[in-house]
Amino acid sequence: MKSLTCFRKDGEPKTVYSTQAAAQEAAKYVSQENDKSFSAYQCNTCNEWHICPSDKQTPNRPCSHCTGGDGKPKSLYETYDGAKRRANIIYHERGIRLDVYECRYSSGFHLTKG
Ligand SMILES: [Zn+2]
Ligand SMILES: [Zn+2]
Repeated sequence: MKSLTCFRKDGEPKTVYSTQAAAQEAAKYVSQENDKSFSAYQCNTCNEWHICPSDKQTPNRPCSHCTGGDGKPKSLYETYDGAKRRANIIYHERGIRLDVYECRYSSGFHLTKG
């Protein structure tokens, strides 16, 4: 079913799933088709379920204060949940376990190898 209220960036209506199970099933299928990770999420706008690339669920920007081991700015996650989700994705994709901690300088969260 196509949404009447929610649209993708390209203007296409998002597909709506009425249950979490249906959305998760679709996410699994689309992940395999596209060879990248999709997740099911409950929409704030319509209260139904959509799927989106997993990366989009973890809004982040480069931190203006902190740099990682490679000298590049660390990703600053806007929310604890977003950082946690990113950590889970990395764990599933690469088997690396990361901890979430609050940035001391900016408002947001970073991931660290514990
Ligand atoms: Zn929606
Ligand atoms: Zn920081």
